[in-house]
Amino acid sequence: MPDDLHIKANHHGFATRVAHVSRPGTRSHGFVNGGVHRGSTVLYPSCEARGEINDKGFDKHALTYGTSGGPTHFALEDAIAEIEGGTRTMIVGTGLAACAVPLLAFLKAGDHCLIPDTVYGPTRRLADGLMAGWGIETTYYEPTVDAAGLEALMRPNTKVLYTESPGSHTFELQDIPALAAVAHARGAKVLMDNTWGIHHYQPFQHGVDVSIQALTKYVGGHSDVLLGSVTMNNEDDWKTVASAGRFMGHYASPDDCWLALRGLRTMAVRLKHQEAAGLEVARWFETRPEVLRVLHPALPSHPQHALFKRDFTGACSLFGVVFQPDYDMARIHAMVDGLTLFGIGASWGGFESLALPTTGYVTRTATGAEVLGGPAVRFHIGLEDTADLIADLEAGLVGLSR
Ligand SMILES: *Cc1c(COP(=O)(O)O)cnc(C)c1O
Repeated sequence: MPDDLHIKANHHGFATRVAHVSRPGTRSHGFVNGGVHRGSTVLYPSCEARGEINDKGFDKHALTYGTSGGPTHFALEDAIAEIEGGTRTMIVGTGLAACAVPLLAFLKAGDHCLIPDTVYGPTRRLADGLMAGWGIETTYYEPTVDAAGLEALMRPNTKVLYTESPGSHTFELQDIPALAAVAHARGAKVLMDNTWGIHHYQPFQHGVDVSIQALTKYVGGHSDVLLGSVTMNNEDDWKTVASAGRFMGHYASPDDCWLALRGLRTMAVRLKHQEAAGLEVARWFETRPEVLRVLHPALPSHPQHALFKRDFTGACSLFGVVFQPDYDMARIHAMVDGLTLFGIGASWGGFESLALPTTGYVTRTATGAEVLGGPAVRFHIGLEDTADLIADLEAGLVGLSR
């Protein structure tokens, strides 16, 4: 058996790749999976070797001290880099840290940053809080802005174009290649929160410089681990981001990395099931009179469906449902409270279904309901039998009109 199976993106299918990537080969006494390597101190063979090893602290797989990672981290880093099609990945303790570290790595006092108005809420809090306090100015832009519109927002000190496509509450898609071209012409870095797209969106083929994943979602897959990844497309950007992360002491537990590797092995089948189940439920919602519209990029009714067809190879199982405006939020809450198979909770990507009323994650209005046309709920479809989920939802919708 070779030490590492050499998995090539264009050669094998995705399920094959996640089953084999970063396996330990002969280094694991014949066991299929690698171990959990816990550790702070790394022992040097001699005093002289210590200097040489520390000089190579940013080399791939360099073992210098626990904070720069160990074999379990490296296995996960290599696996995520392969999935995202990037050069090198840094693993951090949460998805939010994966958003924060590259923002803070590429921005300094006096710089300007562009963030989509639909951005993940905690990323907005970072920009409005710490970043603003440090003299980094943010402009929130419409996620569907075109190249000319973005051009008008660029300033000489714009250093980062942050993107997230689709927005994880309102599901607008962004024309990343067009926007990245504008940013790159002005020397700005393009960061993308690619959690929704996972392997269905290859960020570096679309002009992204830094791709962010909340591994907490489908990679972990079981709602029992928090973890984030930041993947870069060249060694220089990797060094910039990894330095910032290390300056701030970012680290992830090797036990959590091991859980993420374990989740990864089954992610392809889970995603395949959840994509189909999510679409089945979304299409069912579209037939219901209680529903104004369904926010799912893979449905032809989605306003940017053409971008989905152009750029994505598939979907995950997170989407939104906008109800008729004559239902007030109190009724929607009562309906969600009455569901028996859907938990009410944040996060997604686990084996279990979730429902979460959509709240004001947009600056355009206080509630989001004005933007969307009615009260909305975000649904995550898990691994349950779809017929059971639909029966549960049907009972809820019948109750809504009573
Ligand atoms: C959940 C999520 C994050 C943050 O991940 P955590 O691990 O929960 O911190 C970042 N971006 C998006 C789009 C998310 O849904």
